[in-house]
Amino acid sequence: MTELTVSADIVASVHYTGTLPDNGEVFDSSEGREPLSFLVGHKQMIPGFEEEIMGAKIGEKKEFTLTSERAYGDRDEAAVMEIPRGQFAQLEAESSLEVGMQLVAQMPHGPSPFTITVLTDEAVTADFNHTLAGKSLTFAVEIVDLREVTDDEKSHGHAHGPDGHHQH
Ligand code: ZN
Repeated sequence: MTELTVSADIVASVHYTGTLPDNGEVFDSSEGREPLSFLVGHKQMIPGFEEEIMGAKIGEKKEFTLTSERAYGDRDEAAVMEIPRGQFAQLEAESSLEVGMQLVAQMPHGPSPFTITVLTDEAVTADFNHTLAGKSLTFAVEIVDLREVTDDEKSHGHAHGPDGHHQH
C-alpha cells in the first residue's frame, strides 16, 4: 500500500495557525480545537493553502506566506456601499451599531457578511470585502491525518465529520 499524500480527492486533517506577516497577529488557529478537515481539490480552501501542502505526508509541517491573490483576493472598492440607516431600524431596536461590527445581509444570491466601516446618522457604510482581502497571510500547517474520500463526500464536494454527519 502506498502512503497517502495531500492530493485531489483526499480528505486532509490539519492543524494550522494563520498570522499576518506584517505584525505577527494571529487571525485564525485550530489550536485547542479539532483539526480542520477538508476535501482536497474541491475549492473548500483558499487556493494557495492547498497548493503549498500538495504532496505532504502525515506528520509533515509546512510554513508559507501567501500573497493576497493566492489567499482571499484583492480588495474591491465597489464592494463598499452606503446603506440608509433606516434599514437598520429593526436591528437597532435590539442592539446598537458600532464601527467594526460584522453583520450578515440577506442578498438575492444568499447571505453576505459585511463589516461596518463608517457610521453616520443617515447611513451605514458596509464593506462586503472579506476582512482578509488584500492581505498577505502566513500559515504554519501540520498534516494530522489523510484518508481516502467516501462516495458521499465526493458527490457533495466536501468532507464530512468522523461520524458521517455533515459539517455544513
Ligand atoms: Zn455533505
